[in-house]
Amino acid sequence: MKYELLKTEGRAKRGRFHTVHGVIETPVFMNVGTVAAIKGAVSTDDLRQIKTQVELSNTYHLHVRTGDKLIKELGGLHKFMAWDKPILTDSGGFQVFSLAGIRKIKEEGVTFNSHIDGRKIFMGPEESMQIQSNLGSTIAMAFDECPPALAERKYVEDSVARTTRWLHRCKAEMARLNSLDDTINKEQLLFGINQGAIFNDIRIEHANIISELDLPGYAVGGLAVGESHEQMYDVLDHVVPYLPQNKPTYLMGVGTPANILEAVDRGIDFFDCVYPSRNGRHGHVYTNHGKLNLFNQKFEKDMRPIEEGCGCPTCRTYSRAYVRHLLKAKEMLGMRLCVLHNLYFYNTMMEEIRDALDEGRFAQYKKDKLASMEAGE
Ligand SMILES: [Zn+2]
Repeated sequence: MKYELLKTEGRAKRGRFHTVHGVIETPVFMNVGTVAAIKGAVSTDDLRQIKTQVELSNTYHLHVRTGDKLIKELGGLHKFMAWDKPILTDSGGFQVFSLAGIRKIKEEGVTFNSHIDGRKIFMGPEESMQIQSNLGSTIAMAFDECPPALAERKYVEDSVARTTRWLHRCKAEMARLNSLDDTINKEQLLFGINQGAIFNDIRIEHANIISELDLPGYAVGGLAVGESHEQMYDVLDHVVPYLPQNKPTYLMGVGTPANILEAVDRGIDFFDCVYPSRNGRHGHVYTNHGKLNLFNQKFEKDMRPIEEGCGCPTCRTYSRAYVRHLLKAKEMLGMRLCVLHNLYFYNTMMEEIRDALDEGRFAQYKKDKLASMEAGE
């Protein structure tokens, strides 16, 4: 049994996911290391200190630069980046559809131009699975199309139908790859992805179809791409009940601390988002009393840590005034200290959510946390 459902509170789930690279306690926030590193000069040694459970790397980025074949030759992504805990790789689909140059979508897959050197690359379900197998990640994501949130119904229907056909091909290809002698991680797990933009009926039908494939986990994709928070919560209210409760459910690319609390409440287990690292690089730091902009003049003489009582490597040693000075002086350390604090804040919030679920007080925890963050300092 890979996923143990330990406890529920309403629709919120407290679980434990067993993988070949160790146990993942859920709900979990995965820390995004796009090119096998978290932007902001954060090392895997740092990740161990800031309670990171899962690192997320981007298939597209690693494929176009450095290359998955070389990473396989060097022993796989875990060995390459010196990280022995779980790694999730996305399918490359999102970047292909959003970042890459002129593209052609066909039944076989997508042709696009690399954003690095413009060279023409083809990627379909088989290629995505092969790249993720070369990387040897713990969890591989299915290759799908993420239609724009506000796409027309007819487009979304056709796109979702193709994503379903692609999922069957992903499953077959992963089974083949996992059976090969020289595969790095023969226990690699495939997560399917639910799509359907903001059309709840399309999403529910799709959830029913993909649930039959009995995959180890399922994601809700194509959200946080331009729709409102209310639309996102509405989709979750409708679709999550149709995904297997005895499997992890992953909400891709979400979100703010408030988004995460709302989504946990709607049955989501896995999250990832660039917000904590991206905001950290710009001097925006999260606290239990709201987000602070350390560039603000009022922190010039503020010798308190970013957050009183925070156990992160930044707050244990440095003041707001010093971090502000580093940011103003464009010292790399300023950016790094903010990113470390923000990831620690997110990882700690997930720990608090798990504790609250264990003790049957998640509803109260959510209410208090939202009120405190809303109130400000
Ligand atoms: Zn801190």
